[in-house]
Amino acid sequence: MPSLQSLRGMVDLLPDAIGLWQHVEASAREHFRRAAVAEIRTPLLEVTELFARGIGEATDVVGKEMYTFLDRGERSCTLRPEGTASVVRAAIQHGLLSQGPQRLWYGGPMFRYERPQAGRQRQFHQIGLELLGFADARSDVEAIAIAWDLLADLGVGGLALELNTLGSPDDRARYRGELVAWLEAHRERLDPDSQQRIATNPLRVLDSKVPDTQTLLAGAPTLADALCGESHERFARVRQGLEALAIPFELNPRLVRGLDYYSHTAFEITSSQLGAQATVCGGGRYDGLVQQLGGAPTPAIGWALGMERLVLLLSQAAHVSAPAAVPDLYVVSRGEAAEALALPVARRCRASGLVVELDGSGAAFAKQFRRADRSGARFAAVIGDAEASEGLAVLKDLRGERPEQRLAIAALVDVLRQLLARREPVA
Ligand code: ATP
Ligand code: MG
Repeated sequence: MPSLQSLRGMVDLLPDAIGLWQHVEASAREHFRRAAVAEIRTPLLEVTELFARGIGEATDVVGKEMYTFLDRGERSCTLRPEGTASVVRAAIQHGLLSQGPQRLWYGGPMFRYERPQAGRQRQFHQIGLELLGFADARSDVEAIAIAWDLLADLGVGGLALELNTLGSPDDRARYRGELVAWLEAHRERLDPDSQQRIATNPLRVLDSKVPDTQTLLAGAPTLADALCGESHERFARVRQGLEALAIPFELNPRLVRGLDYYSHTAFEITSSQLGAQATVCGGGRYDGLVQQLGGAPTPAIGWALGMERLVLLLSQAAHVSAPAAVPDLYVVSRGEAAEALALPVARRCRASGLVVELDGSGAAFAKQFRRADRSGARFAAVIGDAEASEGLAVLKDLRGERPEQRLAIAALVDVLRQLLARREPVA
C-alpha cells in the first residue's frame, strides 16, 4: 500500500465513477433551470461564527462535526458543513434580498467529522435548493416537488417522502416545556445521549436511534397536539398541495431534523434500499434564519440532497448507466515527421468539436492499433512518415464497416464530420 493515502472519510472519485455523477449533476441543473432557480457558489471556508449562529451550538453538526481551525491571521475558520448558512450570508451580504425573493441552488463539497461508513463520509457532496422570501404553503409544496421530480426523473425507486411540521416558534416553545417535563419524569429510562439532550436540545431526543428510547417515546406528548390553529391550517395546506400533485407522503411526527433554524414544514426523502443511511434528501422551512444572521425577517424554505447516497442508489439500479466518453478519432503516428504532425491534426479536429485521443507513445504501429481498438474510438487517423511527407493521413474505420481511405489532412475534419453526422459546434 502506498504510504501517502487520502484522509479517512475523504473519498477520491475515479474516472469510472464520474459518468454517473455528471449525469446526476446535469439532471439537477436542468430541473433547476426549468424551475427558474439560479445557481450560487459560495466559499468552502467561512468564519466559524456563521455556523455557530446559523445552525446552533447544540446541534451535532456544530457541537461535534465541524472542521474548525485558526488561520494564519488567528481567525477561527470552518470548512462548511452545509450550504444554507453560507447562501443566506451571501444573500444578506450582497443585498440580494432587497431585490425581491430569491430562488437559488448550490452544489459542492461539505465537511463533517463523522464516523465514515457506506453513505457517510467526512467530505461529501450536496446539491441544495433555497427559496428565500417565500412564506406561502405553496412554496413548501413547490420546493418538495422540485426534489421529488428530480429524483423520479433520475429513476430512483423505492422512495418515501416523510413529512412533519415543527409549528411556529411559539408552538415549539410551548411544546418544549411539555416535552422537557415529560423527559425529566422519565429520565432514568433514557439513554445517556438523550439524557444530556434534555437540557441542550430536547426535540432532538425524539430523533434518537436507540430502540429502548424509541419505545419509551411512544408515550411522550407530541408536537402535533401543541400546534395552534394557524399552524394546523398551514400544515393542512401543504398536505393538500402535495395530494393535488399526487406526490405520496407519510406523516412522521418524530421527524425533527438536526438543525435549529427550522420551523413549520420539515421533510425527508428516504429510500428503503440505503440501509442505515436512508435519507437522500432533507429540508424544511427556516423562517428565522435570515434574521438570525443579521438580515431583515425573511421566510424561507429549502432542502439538501446527498450526492453520495443518490449515486449509490443509482449505481444499484441496473438500468441507469451513464454513457462512457468514447473518442470519435484515435490518432496513430510513427516517425519523426508523422509525430510532429499528429498533434496539429488532433487540435484541428478537436477545434471542430470531435473527441480525439492522441497516441503519443511512439510505439510500433501494431501496439498503437491495439490501444486504438481498446479506446472504443470509431475511427483512427494513421500517419506514417510517407503520409506525412505528402500531407496525408489514412482514415481507418475501426469497426471495419468502410474501406481504408487516404485523404489530405486538410480534408480530414470535413470527411469525419460527415461520417459522424456531427452538428456544427455552436460558435
Ligand atoms: P444524517 O441523519 O444522515 O446524518 P443529516 O440530518 O445530518 O443526515 P442534513 O444535514 O439534512 O443531514 O443533510 C442533507 C443530506 O446530506 C442528508 O440527507 C444526506 O443525504 C446527506 N449527508 C449528510 N451528512 C452526510 C455525510 N456525512 N456523508 C454523506 N452524505 C451526507
Ligand atoms: Mg448528520
